[in-house]
Amino acid sequence: MKKIETQGYIVAVTDSSYNQPDHSFENGMSIFYLLSDGTFLIYDGGQGEEDSENLYKLLQKTADNNDLSKITVSAWIITHEHGDHMGFVDHFFATYKDVEVKEVWANTFYSWGKAMVETIVKNKPYCNVRVVEIGQEYNLADVKVEVLCAPEPLREIDAQALDRDNNSASIVTRLTIRGKTVLMPGDASFLAWDYMKDKYGRALKSDILQVPHHGANNAATKEVYDLIDAQTLLFPCGDRLYETLLNKGDYYVCKQGCPHDLYNTHTHALVEDFKGQIIVAGTFDFENPVIKRFI
Ligand SMILES: [Zn+2]
Ligand SMILES: [Zn+2]
Repeated sequence: MKKIETQGYIVAVTDSSYNQPDHSFENGMSIFYLLSDGTFLIYDGGQGEEDSENLYKLLQKTADNNDLSKITVSAWIITHEHGDHMGFVDHFFATYKDVEVKEVWANTFYSWGKAMVETIVKNKPYCNVRVVEIGQEYNLADVKVEVLCAPEPLREIDAQALDRDNNSASIVTRLTIRGKTVLMPGDASFLAWDYMKDKYGRALKSDILQVPHHGANNAATKEVYDLIDAQTLLFPCGDRLYETLLNKGDYYVCKQGCPHDLYNTHTHALVEDFKGQIIVAGTFDFENPVIKRFI
């Protein structure tokens, strides 16, 4: 096998309209790593069929470029049960029989998550579905994976609050790759960050941050971003949504033509004096897939 250096990519995804059929925003998440042992570690995968096909093409291309005869996924982390992260599952798992998925990490707190796991197990009965817990550590090839947050303790603190702020049910992990840390919080929102701020404080410090909840409202506060103190920011959103998050009074006009105020004071504060590198997933293009390497 060719010598492979572990590498991470962020992929642009389609507009999301899963919970508001009349509206459509450029949020959604699809990030994958090719590990030094020739297997993949994947986070989410976007909204639906086009994202599923697009991701398969990109995995195939990455496998080909590295002389790999097949796509093997060591762990597929579905951060939480929202359509812009797990909507691709039905199509992907039913269609791509050639992809071996050894493990899926998932929450099954809500009905969407339960249905997702049923689809996965029906199509790949050998796949291990792992429910992770805070404090666990795994090694995948040369990558260390730490579990920093999972919904169980938040549910014990305040189940109703978690149901209201269910982005906080995201599995939050931190990877260490060649000595660099990458914080991957999915859509973790205020409830989860309050918990992590108290539990970890300055130990949240990470080199690369996948900005939570696409940088949209309830993402995290500037206080939390200061603790993380990242040098690289990854925004899992489209270019237009990114601009709208930062500019007060600049309205995002959805596909139905309605203006939405998506300005987020915390995201603005995060980016305003930021000296490092900012990588925005970008605008989806099925013919010319938009993919950016960040490590
Ligand atoms: Zn999301
Ligand atoms: Zn979400």
